[in-house]
Amino acid sequence: MNPLPPADPPSASLGMDMKIQREDHVFAAPTRVYGLTAEDWDGYTGEGDYARANGNTHAAMAAGHGIRDGLYAGLAAAAGEPEETYDCVIVGGGISGMAAAQTFVQKAPGKTCLILENHAIFGGEARRNEFRVDGRRVITAQGSAMFFPPLPGSSLLAFYEGMGFDGKGLDYQTLAGEAADLEVGNTLYADEGRSLGMYFGQLFGQPEGMWVTDPWGKQLEGTPFPPEVKRQLLGQTKPANPWTPAPKQYGDAWCRELDSMNQEDVMIRRDGLTRETIRTYQNYAASAAGASADVISGVADYIPDIQFPWDTRQDAQMFPGGNAGIARYQLKALIPHALPGPLSLSGVFESKVDFSALDRPHQPVRVRLNATVFAVKHEGSPETASSVAVTYILDGKPHRVRARSVVMAGGWTTWRTILDLPETHRAAYRQFYRMPCLIANVCLTNWRFMARNGISECAWFEGLGRAFTVRRMPVFDFSGSTLSPDAPVPVTIKIIFTEPGLPLEQQALRGRMKMLSTPFSEYERSIREQFQQMFGRWGFDARTDIAGIILNRWGHAYLCAQPGFFFGLNGEPAPRGVLRRAPFGRIAFANSDLSGIMDHRASIAEAQRAVGQLLA
Ligand SMILES: Cc1cc2nc3c(=O)[nH]c(=O)nc-3n(C[C@H](O)[C@H](O)[C@H](O)COP(=O)(O)OP(=O)(O)OC[C@H]3O[C@@H](n4cnc5c(N)ncnc54)[C@H](O)[C@@H]3O)c2cc1C
Repeated sequence: MNPLPPADPPSASLGMDMKIQREDHVFAAPTRVYGLTAEDWDGYTGEGDYARANGNTHAAMAAGHGIRDGLYAGLAAAAGEPEETYDCVIVGGGISGMAAAQTFVQKAPGKTCLILENHAIFGGEARRNEFRVDGRRVITAQGSAMFFPPLPGSSLLAFYEGMGFDGKGLDYQTLAGEAADLEVGNTLYADEGRSLGMYFGQLFGQPEGMWVTDPWGKQLEGTPFPPEVKRQLLGQTKPANPWTPAPKQYGDAWCRELDSMNQEDVMIRRDGLTRETIRTYQNYAASAAGASADVISGVADYIPDIQFPWDTRQDAQMFPGGNAGIARYQLKALIPHALPGPLSLSGVFESKVDFSALDRPHQPVRVRLNATVFAVKHEGSPETASSVAVTYILDGKPHRVRARSVVMAGGWTTWRTILDLPETHRAAYRQFYRMPCLIANVCLTNWRFMARNGISECAWFEGLGRAFTVRRMPVFDFSGSTLSPDAPVPVTIKIIFTEPGLPLEQQALRGRMKMLSTPFSEYERSIREQFQQMFGRWGFDARTDIAGIILNRWGHAYLCAQPGFFFGLNGEPAPRGVLRRAPFGRIAFANSDLSGIMDHRASIAEAQRAVGQLLA
């Protein structure tokens, strides 16, 4: 129900202006958004702590779009006087918001902090999905997946260690049964080793479909790629002398030069690829950032390793539920009894979240879930005000808290929620483009059909997604120490919405529209059809071999940094500069998107900077 307009004389005469308990303070989220009900949208949401929190849920999305559409304007007044006061209120309970709370209470002991998060659990993009198959738990990541063992002496290692996590590589399952001779990686991203199978369909004139296993080991022999494309993909068309090495230092001249180009032009010049090859056969170009390579800054791919050098000898690592593992360590550090188990890998992983412990009075940090912040405003002039009012909606009702300082760690809603934000900052945020991404987690009852044919990972070029891989889990009680093809496994299909040739903004809008208006049942049917088409010949049966599907719809998944995002373009400063340079009054800005890379290390670093600025 929309808020009622101000009472006119006739309604006043009916007592519409009387102060009573009213339903009109309740914001009823629309039952359909983009034509979909909650059921069409969310589908099966999984088990355990993260049930009913798969991706951007219908409830969170409907509330978020209420901000965009100005539906809460009338509710702000209804919130009344602030109900509580905190030293710091943090908007957004992802890794960045929680890192802000950790930094705040560490640097300002004795002060209080409230995290307001719009989903049913903390973690943001770092959450996990859980299936149960014949009593066994099968767990994987919803979004943020890998961590990268930090170097000794780095501030990231200090941060990890501060919460009791050593940041070291994990112990993974060994392979058993028919899988014993396969190459199986530790993360959900394909290794492209000898256990890769490539599937070719209609696009290659193969309506019945064909498989080539170990395509790279075979130098693409037997694949239906055109000969020139093969040469390009095998690196035989690379310039004899590399056109230039990777940049060495953040912000050096070469970084800036690359930032003025797009990723596709870099790939053409650096790797000897044609535009057509990139667009047709390398859909995941530009770091799989969600947009096509022609609209992404040429330096974007290099930035994570320059900014966050890591111990590459240990490889990228992944908890069973991805970086939900990091988020759970953060919760344990903030509110230890909310994760009652011991402070150890398995304690943090296995304990069940005690939701009742998240938001109790008298604890330094409180986490309030299902709370969508829709209005943030200084109480007075931003230059001189001593507090900020933060208004949010919870269970359909508006509430207000007073904050002596605020960290905005929610990302894409920030510029719409700060009511007194200056135009300079709004203009900056308008240049942040976030692409949608759908993470479809499919739980297989077994993967014998793959192992028997010598593969543990596969890639394809049309239909939904482009690849998935079976992975070895870190050893926990629930996973056991061996991985056999008879065991249920999760596989993740990342579905992105690139449209090369279109401006970034349009790719984002069109992709989002498509993802947000497609019901669960349609995605489910497509996934089942695709699996049957690809694997039916190997004995796969979609009726018995799929135990469950969970969709995680991320409407604003990836910040895609366009040319100039990092260091500015044509003499204009980088848009994010104004947001990172200093707080606006008592409000500072965090979230990974300010770094231009989607990486939890950036979430942490941006939070530390923001809190440092506020406390200074
Ligand atoms: C598909 C995918 C895969 C990724 N893989 C990796 C990976 O392998 N490794 C890696 O390091 N990084 C990865 N990332 C990057 C990821 O963005 C970061 O790791 C990190 O999880 C981001 O944390 P954050 O706190 O900065 O933002 P978010 O996780 O987006 O957290 C912000 C939170 O604020 C909430 N919020 C927003 N507005 C409001 C509001 N108005 N009121 C209340 N709450 C609000 C949001 O719903 C969200 O929960 C991946 C991202 C995606 C989308």
